[in-house]
Amino acid sequence: MRHQLVIAVVSLFVVAAQAVAQPGRSGTRIQPGQECPPGTTEIRPNLCQAPETAAPSILDYRPKSTLVTPVHLVPKSKFPSIDFHGHPGDISNAEALERLGASMDSIGVQVMIAANNTSGEQLKNTMAAIRASAKMKDRVRVLTGINLRDVGPGWAERAVAQLEADVAAGAVGVGEIGKGFGLSITKADGSRLKLDDPELKPIWDACARLGLPVFIHTADPQEFFKNIDLTNERWLELALFPGRRFPPDRFPSFEQLMTERDNLFRNNPKTTFVAAHMGWQANDLTRLAKLLDLPNVYTEVGAVLYDIGRQPRGAHDFFVKYQDRILFGKDSFQPEEYPYYWRVFETADEYFDYYRGYHAFWKLYGIALPDAVLKKVYYQNALKLMKGVPTSGFPK
Ligand SMILES: [Zn+2]
Repeated sequence: MRHQLVIAVVSLFVVAAQAVAQPGRSGTRIQPGQECPPGTTEIRPNLCQAPETAAPSILDYRPKSTLVTPVHLVPKSKFPSIDFHGHPGDISNAEALERLGASMDSIGVQVMIAANNTSGEQLKNTMAAIRASAKMKDRVRVLTGINLRDVGPGWAERAVAQLEADVAAGAVGVGEIGKGFGLSITKADGSRLKLDDPELKPIWDACARLGLPVFIHTADPQEFFKNIDLTNERWLELALFPGRRFPPDRFPSFEQLMTERDNLFRNNPKTTFVAAHMGWQANDLTRLAKLLDLPNVYTEVGAVLYDIGRQPRGAHDFFVKYQDRILFGKDSFQPEEYPYYWRVFETADEYFDYYRGYHAFWKLYGIALPDAVLKKVYYQNALKLMKGVPTSGFPK
């Protein structure tokens, strides 16, 4: 009697499960905490099922949102802006500069900081072209580079002398020091040049003495250091651009690079550092906040809009709290992409497209920053950090 009851109850469950799965196709049961088998998805608790037709590739699945909410497009920044992370292409002659000026006008960028490590004769020629342009002489400034190759005996003297010459020629800062510093650049003895190598101390001291901010890009998104599997947020990007993978057998880990970078910033408190791309910690603002607790550290927002715009409340509060330490910068110069930044910073719009699908499988939200914060992020912080950037064209 009891046996019959148990059998009846069990078959009731089986019937119920089959009723949930689509007719003719039974689902796959899993244990709590287990993942569904490949090609299936969880349709009820612990019951997985495959779609009736073959699933499309992630490249071809492009659902159109039916959400209707207010839309506020922002073609130009609300206040004139400084692009601290500029890679503006050709700025070597009057025509190229004026073409750049027209693009800058269309998006509200008042001053472009070319962060291309320009040094020596090239820097002198670039500054001569800028100064000779009546229209653009106050709208472009240039960062110089530091040659970090072959650090060893005699290197520091040469590097400091070149830095002084470049400042005399008009450089307003240093950068962008690229991710090769830490990932791949080697010393004269063949070993990897660590970010916190003490042999570099004289150059950081010189930057402090000359009042130059040091703009530095360290590592890359943490996913680039991980296995490329179907749990990796950047699977598509890594599959499109295999050169962006940093496997542990050939490269230092993300954490190793973060540790060296933080040592560099901490060990040189008189030098001002600007961590590019929000230090690749825009996905962990609590951690980035700890970095900004170092008073000599600033950060810049280029190419991480996808992380800012997916956490509108947290990002809003972070930008308000660290409003004196964040600089606008865009990185790749595509004028049609800047309005996405303005929309995220200035509006409270919801669930809108990002400009580069392979970066992010999600939508963006506006973080609606107050005007006082926008002004600091757009230009006041950059003007504070760099002597030699013209202040004409900015509100008082
Ligand atoms: Zn850059």
